[in-house]
Amino acid sequence: MEPRSDLPTHEVTNQPPARGDRDLWSNDPVLRTHAADADAAALRRQAQALGRAQMAEAARDANRHGPELVLFDAGGRRLDEVRFHPAYHAFLHLGLTGGYASGPWQGGRHLTHAAMVYLHSQVEPGTCCPMTMTYAAVPALRGTGGLGDTWAPKLTAGHYDAALKPVTQKAGVTLGMAMTEKQGGSDVRANTTRAEKLADGWRLTGHKWFCSAPMSDGFLTLAQAPGGLTCFLVPRWLENGQRNAIHILRLKDKLGNRANASAEIEYHGALAEQVGEEGDGIRTILTMVHHTRLDTATAPAGLMRAALDHAHHWTAHRSAFQRRLIDQPLMQAVLADLALDWEGAAALAFRVARAFDDPGQAAFSRISVALAKFLNNKLAGRVIGEAMEVMGGMGYVEDSPLPLLYREAPLNGIWEGSGNVICLDILRSLARDPACADALDAALEAPSGQLPGYDAALTSYRNTWKTPPTEAQARAFATQTATLLTAATLIDAAPAPVAEAFVATRLTNGPGLIAGANPTANPAAMLARLGPATD
Ligand SMILES: Cc1cc2nc3c(=O)[nH]c(=O)nc-3n(C[C@H](O)[C@H](O)[C@H](O)COP(=O)(O)OP(=O)(O)OC[C@H]3O[C@@H](n4cnc5c(N)ncnc54)[C@H](O)[C@@H]3O)c2cc1C
Repeated sequence: MEPRSDLPTHEVTNQPPARGDRDLWSNDPVLRTHAADADAAALRRQAQALGRAQMAEAARDANRHGPELVLFDAGGRRLDEVRFHPAYHAFLHLGLTGGYASGPWQGGRHLTHAAMVYLHSQVEPGTCCPMTMTYAAVPALRGTGGLGDTWAPKLTAGHYDAALKPVTQKAGVTLGMAMTEKQGGSDVRANTTRAEKLADGWRLTGHKWFCSAPMSDGFLTLAQAPGGLTCFLVPRWLENGQRNAIHILRLKDKLGNRANASAEIEYHGALAEQVGEEGDGIRTILTMVHHTRLDTATAPAGLMRAALDHAHHWTAHRSAFQRRLIDQPLMQAVLADLALDWEGAAALAFRVARAFDDPGQAAFSRISVALAKFLNNKLAGRVIGEAMEVMGGMGYVEDSPLPLLYREAPLNGIWEGSGNVICLDILRSLARDPACADALDAALEAPSGQLPGYDAALTSYRNTWKTPPTEAQARAFATQTATLLTAATLIDAAPAPVAEAFVATRLTNGPGLIAGANPTANPAAMLARLGPATD
């Protein structure tokens, strides 16, 4: 007898249901605790829109069908265009119209902006790059006279316009940043791009080895002018309707961040406008970098949240050995431990963002943004890698969002100052700027007297660093300082069991390298922070 091919081979059981629409605001107790004073209405709107199943699909599309470089038209004329899947544009539209880049410059708060970075990073982190650079460019351009008057209102319009036109003909624009050259990224003083002042203005000649979001309407860039390294704005389109002489050579083939394009470019006598004083380029661009660092400190908290949210959903719906995974003590120990890192990272990032809102906390924002960027990014890879394992084999396949999150995890630690550079910056800020040292000291002192473990750790830290750290000790110093600052933030703002667990496992027993190997006394308190797993 012929075997019948239409008989079912098995019944599908014990596979978690597909995730539907999610509300990334209501379902996230950590966000609602640590960004409680942000613009909740704006965040709820954004969180619900981003949480739609349709946006999860769009994120997959934007990553699977990455940007395409189109160098020439059919007749061989230069185009230098990058074309994106419609899903990419959908994320930019949602973010920019939701106030991601414009909010803080239109009377809103940096805290609300940071919460938007956190939300977008959970769904499609690659598209944060162009929006973050647009947000961060505003303070560098405002107050620069005619240039700022032309660009700033378009950058802060809360409008996405992908049209290929000069700035004056667009309702909203985006900006990129091109600093890194082949011979050095961290050391931008080594830049070789030349700026010459000709009759029609500044002309730039040279290359940039990394230039993300190359379809931005302009780029803040550094070039060597006669008076030294200077910041310039290079528009992609000139007012006469011609393309500026910016050639795209190729797109980087990146580990992750695939929805976003990162290009190698050359300036062939590109017209540029000076920003800030000639020779003062580094100081000028640092105004922008200060703000991109806020986002690169916050995004890892969003990536961790997404990974843990998916892992939580998975364990709540999957059983092994006759018990749901979420009910098994060892799984609870792992998830609780990971959730501590995530809540600590989110709490610290939002505290830093709050300092951006308060001119009286400028010194604290300078030092704390570097500390948060360093520590949060170091934690992200560990948390996301473990969350992947929590989902077993399905965490490793592209049907789940974990691979996308995992590929993204190292990036915010690399750009806007790689780990070592950030740690050395921290030492420099504390040595040169007494206001930074005082602000940090006050923040670490503030929660004293509440948890003996914290007090003991602070005393030991102060004894250790009576002599300022050497360069070789910069990572040890940054790790200890940022971990203490996270603990201080949690003592002030998180539910008591969370702060107690953080102090007990991160300060008192030392940070556990392996998740779950240094179990928290009250895992249920941490699991509650993950929110509902029922959607
Ligand atoms: C996907 C992606 C997109 C990017 N987009 C942009 C962009 O849009 N615009 C842009 O300008 N750049 C961009 N970059 C470049 C990025 O900012 C640089 O790669 C980064 O700043 C590091 O510079 P580098 O690669 O030249 O490394 P290097 O400067 O060579 O540094 C290499 C390593 O040495 C360490 N190091 C440096 N100095 C010291 C020291 N004194 N002591 C100890 N260690 C040190 C660094 O921390 C780093 O780990 C992008 C990078 C990536 C990966």
